[in-house]
Amino acid sequence: MSSFHHELIRRNPGEPEFHQATLEVLETLAPVLAARPEIAAAKLVERICEPERQIMFRVPWQDDAGEIHINRGFRVEFNSALGPYKGGLRFHPSVNLGIVKFLGFEQIFKNALTGLNIGGGKGGSDFDPHGRSDAEVMRFCQSFMTELHRHLGEHTDVPAGDIGVGGREIGFMFGQYRRITNRWEAGILTGKGLQWGGSHARTEATGYGNVLFTAEMLKQRGEDLDGQQVTVSGSGNVAIYTIEKAQALGANVLTCSDSGGYIVDEKGIDLALLKEIKEVERGRISEYAERRGASATYVPGGSVWDVPADVALPSATQNELDGDAARTLVRAGVKAVSEGANMPATPEAVTVLREAGVAFGPGKAANAGGVATSALEMRQNSGRESWTFERAEGELAEIMRGIHATCFETAERYGAPGDYVVGANIAGFERVADAMLEQGLI
Ligand code: NDP
Repeated sequence: MSSFHHELIRRNPGEPEFHQATLEVLETLAPVLAARPEIAAAKLVERICEPERQIMFRVPWQDDAGEIHINRGFRVEFNSALGPYKGGLRFHPSVNLGIVKFLGFEQIFKNALTGLNIGGGKGGSDFDPHGRSDAEVMRFCQSFMTELHRHLGEHTDVPAGDIGVGGREIGFMFGQYRRITNRWEAGILTGKGLQWGGSHARTEATGYGNVLFTAEMLKQRGEDLDGQQVTVSGSGNVAIYTIEKAQALGANVLTCSDSGGYIVDEKGIDLALLKEIKEVERGRISEYAERRGASATYVPGGSVWDVPADVALPSATQNELDGDAARTLVRAGVKAVSEGANMPATPEAVTVLREAGVAFGPGKAANAGGVATSALEMRQNSGRESWTFERAEGELAEIMRGIHATCFETAERYGAPGDYVVGANIAGFERVADAMLEQGLI
């Protein structure tokens, strides 16, 4: 490990996910630093690892029984060399500064890979929306935005959703922003409702994008998704639209999960039932097996990666696929693993998969379709336009093909053919580093 990374750990104590995400990128940059000494001389790696700004704030709110709660809000504005800070908000009890920094750091390179003008940022709160009424979620979102609003702006910082933040939460936050500022500024949040500035295909974009990226990786190997057995983890926004697109391309999707356990459906996931339980009723995945009948089994706890598959698409959360799970997948003959979630595979898992020759799509490339479509939403907002679903999806597909090609070609150019981790890290880093070089000592 470099002395710089030792120093990074010392200066950012108690943030293991941030240490992991930075190390994973730094480990792959040696070829570009050797080929381009001006980047090392300008200390661009060191500068990129330091956020431009970190905001932490108190979020007081009252539950339905009148009890007062105090949560913590975060927004890490990591890098704006390429455009306004862009990245989601996560509401989950595990959220802390280190998690937000890991996500914001990843976001810099992901956003660069899209080829669009968006910088990297991330935010959220340790608020847990599970089991809370709509009124409680609204009061929390209003309190959260009461502080966050002063940091946002269509040319400054534009959040979106992430774990625990979907259309409902974005709506409550947008409403509060309007009340406070008395301005109808569509461009301050993405993932909005279709009637008030949202983009078609934004809800679907991350999951669809990951499946399109996977299809591109398989195409390189002379295969496609038709007839493949696919396992998916999670049952939130990313998982649901991953399943939808994989099924549309002819795959048989066997699994999905939540933090309680996973289901296996031998006949293939019934997406209408899954959407009803998760999107409408906000229920648990165990209910799927109860209502689906004999083809489906619920496995409480356990690892969804025990189910043999040709293609595995982790779409829940960080570090959900470890070294043992990767070895199990390899033994079962997995051909491709692509990260719908952010950093779902541990470093050991990534090593196991790469050494076994499995096509591995890193999240910063494979799940970039969500933020790319957010940038398309921003483009529609600034032009006061509303594109059709077909146009938005068509642009998404083109962007995902472009990201795949960029990663593939960059990996070849730097002597690591077929290694999408190297390709994504170097291509994303070079675009940001070049912009920073041209903008002076920033
Ligand atoms: P959602 O909140 O819609 O869904 C999250 C899913 O993951 C739920 O099924 C949840 O289960 C499960 N989950 C969350 N935490 C854990 C945990 N600790 N252990 C097991 N399961 C867990 O979030 P999204 O679908 O939006 O996000 C999923 C992942 O994709 C995240 O890593 C996110 O950063 C990433 N991502 C999302 C994008 C987007 O556009 N939404 C864009 C790019 C990446 P439960 O309900 O039981 O908690």
